[in-house]
Amino acid sequence: MPSKTEMLRGSCNCKGVTFTVKDGGQSVSACHCTQCRKQSGHHWASGYTDVSNFEITGDVRWFDASATAKRGFCPTCGCFLFWKSNTEDGMSFSLGVIDGPTGLEMQKHIFVADKGDYYTIADGVSQREQ
Ligand SMILES: [Zn+2]
Repeated sequence: MPSKTEMLRGSCNCKGVTFTVKDGGQSVSACHCTQCRKQSGHHWASGYTDVSNFEITGDVRWFDASATAKRGFCPTCGCFLFWKSNTEDGMSFSLGVIDGPTGLEMQKHIFVADKGDYYTIADGVSQREQ
């Protein structure tokens, strides 16, 4: 398993977008909000780190999901890759698009008040209503 300080490499399904991220283990969460559920098809597992730690190759399409955040995806294959607040210096990336082991562990479930009714969170990781 790589350590948290090692470079992670991610890609979409068509490989049109690839990226590397350093220090992606600052915050690892599963978001159960309605937008993340719609975008990912389930809850969304992501890592978060400063934008300066990312190197992205290819064309990312950005969707203004709200007044405060945008979501980045591959315009060719549709893979959901990034979430970026308009006011923070950090950006989240999908853990599911990382190629190979991440070396990371889930730290928290967030927005569990909005979670779907078809699953139970039972992994013992802390949960936040928002
Ligand atoms: Zn793609």
